[in-house]
Amino acid sequence: MPDKAPTLTLNDGRSMPQLGFGTYQIEDADVTQAVSMAVEAGYRLIDTAAIYRNEKGVGRALEAHDDIWLTTKIWNDQQGHRESLAAFDKCLGRLGRDSVDLLLIHWPCADKGNYVDTWQAFIELRDAGKAKSIGVSNFMPDNLERIVRETGVTPALNQIELHPSFQQKELRRLHEEMGIVTQSWSPLGQGDGLKQETITRIAEDTGQSPAAIIIRWHMQHGLAVIPKASSKSHIEDNFTATSFTLDEQQMAAIDALDSPDGRIGPDPARFC
Ligand code: NDP
Repeated sequence: MPDKAPTLTLNDGRSMPQLGFGTYQIEDADVTQAVSMAVEAGYRLIDTAAIYRNEKGVGRALEAHDDIWLTTKIWNDQQGHRESLAAFDKCLGRLGRDSVDLLLIHWPCADKGNYVDTWQAFIELRDAGKAKSIGVSNFMPDNLERIVRETGVTPALNQIELHPSFQQKELRRLHEEMGIVTQSWSPLGQGDGLKQETITRIAEDTGQSPAAIIIRWHMQHGLAVIPKASSKSHIEDNFTATSFTLDEQQMAAIDALDSPDGRIGPDPARFC
């Protein structure tokens, strides 16, 4: 029987829940209920960001749950040493906490050229215990290599677009070499991946839902994963991914769905 609360160990020694709940595009007014339903269903990690404008509602849902892993992210226009420290204080104020489990740089914004300064500020926040772990999102190989070269501190995690149509195999290999956990955003391809014939066939064969099949695929590859869902039924459905396993053939069939044109979000080399 698979582990119902699987964790991954980060390079700073901390243990992070592998399956979490994503809150992008859930309004502040709705997110308290959604996060409460997720906690009730068994999720032990919540992913938010300053730009989602729902940190207050997330904080409210977690008032009585300081054992739940909380991730937030600093937005692009708040990068820089002084700016990101100030922005993080505002995040804490909205969340109603004095620390978070994981703080991420949301996008590298390499053209602006201040992600190294931002990373330096994150190292200070980690040393002060305000961000217990620190990582990045949407970083490409040269961005990762640069912050490690210039600060000596490797991010614990890189949160990147990753789903069956866009599997990021090369970047995953680099993460492994560098000791960085990969966390998949838009793990269901924002819902697009659910209708693919390979997925619906495996769902029928196993008696599981298409969403659970895809989430299970991420988990069996050792990826951290943060599906978003609005309804109680989707939230609960996605958590069933902790309760079954896919066999080698099923995993290989999903591996074969990778496509060079599969990206659905912005290109990190250009987006800011
Ligand atoms: P997902 O791949 O998680 O897909 C969400 C969509 O799938 C929604 O439309 C949802 O519908 C639908 N869905 C969820 N579960 C089911 C189900 N069981 N059956 C059918 N449909 C389902 O997309 P997101 O883009 O939201 O990505 C997940 C999280 O990743 C975000 O919420 C955010 O936390 C993070 N993220 C990070 C980014 C970054 O730059 N770091 C960028 C984008 C996302 P419904 O809502 O109706 O339930």
